[in-house]
This record gives sequence, C-alpha cells and structure tokens, in this order.
Amino acid sequence: MKLEKPAGDLCEEKETLAIRGGPKAVTASGPQNWGHGPNEIGEEEIQAVTEVLRSKKLFRYGKAEGESTVSKFEKLFAEKLGVENVIAVNSGTSALIAGLIGLGVSQGDEVLLPAYTYIATAAAVLAIGAFPVIVEVDDSLTIDPVDLEKKITPRTKAVIPVHMRGTPCDMARIVEIASRRGIVVLEDCAQANGGEFRGEPLGSIGDAGIFSLQQFKIITAGEGGAVVTNKKEVFERAAIYHDSAYAFWMEGQAGDAEAVQDWRRICFCGENYRQSEVHGAIAFEQLKKRDRILDRTRAIKRKLWDACETIPGVKMERVNDRDGDCGISLVFFMENSDKAGEISDALRAEGISCGTMFSKQIPDRHVFYHWDYIMEKRTPHRNGFPWASTERPCEVSYTKEMCPQTQGWLSRAVVFPITQMLSDEYVDQVVCAIRKVAQSWN
Ligand SMILES: *Cc1c(COP(=O)(O)O)cnc(C)c1O
Repeated sequence: MKLEKPAGDLCEEKETLAIRGGPKAVTASGPQNWGHGPNEIGEEEIQAVTEVLRSKKLFRYGKAEGESTVSKFEKLFAEKLGVENVIAVNSGTSALIAGLIGLGVSQGDEVLLPAYTYIATAAAVLAIGAFPVIVEVDDSLTIDPVDLEKKITPRTKAVIPVHMRGTPCDMARIVEIASRRGIVVLEDCAQANGGEFRGEPLGSIGDAGIFSLQQFKIITAGEGGAVVTNKKEVFERAAIYHDSAYAFWMEGQAGDAEAVQDWRRICFCGENYRQSEVHGAIAFEQLKKRDRILDRTRAIKRKLWDACETIPGVKMERVNDRDGDCGISLVFFMENSDKAGEISDALRAEGISCGTMFSKQIPDRHVFYHWDYIMEKRTPHRNGFPWASTERPCEVSYTKEMCPQTQGWLSRAVVFPITQMLSDEYVDQVVCAIRKVAQSWN
C-alpha cells in the first residue's frame, strides 16, 4: 500500500540527496540581500530624509514643538514598547554605555553577560571601567539563569540579558534572580526589536533596555540606537550622559524655570551620543514597518520549524517564548559537532542557506572564545585602566576554556537565517529540501 502524503505536502517523491549527486531541491533563487530593515527602504524614508535636508536643520534641538524627527521616533517607540522614556542615540554601543551609567553601574563593578553575544556588549561594560563576567548560555543560546546566579559576587551590580537572533531570554527567571539578589537588569535588544516575553515587549521588562539601529538589525537607520526605561532616575542619568550639554539644551526646550534648575542641579559630565535628524527620520519610518517584517519572518520560521523537527536525532532550540520570538533565525542541535557539520553540508548542497555556529578557526566576534582583547585584558590607557586599578582591581579571569557549556551548544548547532524577503516559492522548496534530507538521514 502506498502511504498517503500529508495534506498540503507538495514535496516531490524522495530523491537522491544533492550531496550524493542527486538534483538540488531548491531551484528558486534566494533574496539578493538577507537583511531586514534595509530591504524596506522606500519612498517613505527618501521623502522623510529629503524633508529634513530641505529644512536645513539636521540637529534635533531648536525646532518648533513636534518638528524633530528624533523626538517623533522616541515618542512612537515609547508607545510601541509601553515605556515612559526613550532616548535616541547614535549606536547600540553608546546606548549600552548610557544605559549602564543610567543604572548607576560604576568603575570596578562586575556586570554579568552571556558568552554568546556581540563583543560590543562586553566592550561597553569595559568602557565605563566595569568588568564583564561571562556567563554560560543554555539550549536557548541565551544567558543560562542557573550559571547567572552562580556567578553573582558581592561586586555584581548588573546583568545584561541579550535576546540573541531575535529570541527572548527567560526574563521571568532573570528578573526573579536579579530582584532577590539585588542586582539591576539591562536588556540588550539590539537583535530583537519587536520581540516579546509573555506578552511584554522586550526592553520594557528589565530596569532598562537598549536597541541598535545599525545596518544589520531588524530596523535600521544605518547607525543609531536607543535607551528605554520606565525609571525616572535611570532616564535622567542616561540622558545626561548621552549629551554633555543636556542641561543647556533643556534650558532652551523647557521654558520652565524650575525644570531648568533641576537639570542643572543633577547634571554631571557626559559624552555626545546624540542622534541626528536624518537618522531620526529614517528610524521613524522604519519603526512603522517593523511589525510587518516580523509577521512575515515569524510565519516563515513556523514552516521551517515543522520541517526541521522531522530530522532524526534533532533537538530544536529551546525558545523561551515562541510567540514573542522575532523569527529572524532558526537553530537546531545535532548529537555532536561532526553530525552538525554533516547535516549542514547536506542542507547546503540542496541549495539552503544555513551553517554551523562555532569554529575555533573562524573568529566570530559573537562568541566569547574569539573576544581576544578581553581575554588578553588589553586597554587603551597607559596605567592599565580598568584592569590594573589599585582601588578595585579586577578579580575576573578569562580563558578559552571558561564556558564549556556554551561551546558545547554552539558547536552542535546549525542556524538558518530568516528574512522577510524569502518568497513563498522559495520557502516551500526549502521546506521540501529539509524533509528530503530528513528522510535519508540516519
Ligand atoms: C549590534 C549589537 C550591539 C551594538 O550595536 P551597534 O549599533 O553596532 O553599536 C550590541 N549588542 C548586540 C547583541 C548587537 O547585536
């Protein structure tokens, strides 16, 4: 008796795998550009930027109420996140620095962060003279709450959970541990703009959150970022740090003598992380397009997930909230790194874009193993700051062997990037290709 194909399964009969000389399952062409936000740049962004240029005012202050594109972006972002305060800045890294200062993190403090994140998360901690303490990730490839709690010392001030590749951290457990142990939480949402955990927008759950608007993030202004928080004091401190003349500009804005006095009273020195009106204009238009991008990536991920689950011996990534996942990537694990390499090669031979996630040879700056300047405690300062501080010397050591659990998960992992640009035809062929490889896999 011939087995009926499942309804809606339009895949061809089993064929020889492409890696063994059979025909490729994916013949439709993939997208030219695998990014997200940049692919959505259209007349809206062009128009908005043109208006800014025609106005000849590229700087946010000194404009009539409601005229600044940066403040329009901040308002819309605050609304979408359901937070009180948003400060637009010029990068995700500067958002991290201003956010840490906002939270009162200071020289010599220890800050927990995951072994799998972009190196900028750790670099921002060092920029303010604090020390990154590197925590294992679990099978969600986000910070492991068990190891997080183990690594808290009397010097720990904050934890930075990073929602990597759009997948949410276990914010319930992280917030519970943080509040019980008296540390603050700064969510790094650089890769997860629009994600949620149990219905709450990422970035709005911890004491503060940060975003990036760099080219490769979900929405982009080329460069840019934001600090978001519900806490008044965190907002004030971050706002002051993001602009060394903050009180001065507020004086021009407020027209309220009392408010001006207040900013002058609480001011301290800062840097300049302000966002330009050109960037604000792009960010505002991109933000309006964000949820449409995510509707599409999430739908594609669900299809790929169902197909990947049929691979013998597969273990799917643990997603802490599947509804809140941005859907911009999919990860599964094989029994060991050889098997991960083999299946990745077989899938790629069918014409699928996917790959393994860890190699000692390929210096991927998202993996602690390749954070050379941190491992070697390099510094731009003659006196060795912050590592060689005599007042609060560093008690953290770094080795390539320090996170075996993270290295274990990453070396068994296969990742599929997902963009809204994948056509239905292409996605259907990828699904069939995965099923084809799964059927011949043992
Ligand atoms: C991109 C990124 C950053 C830094 O953002 P920039 O805008 O490039 O400074 C920080 N953390 C993570 C997880 C990132 O992916």
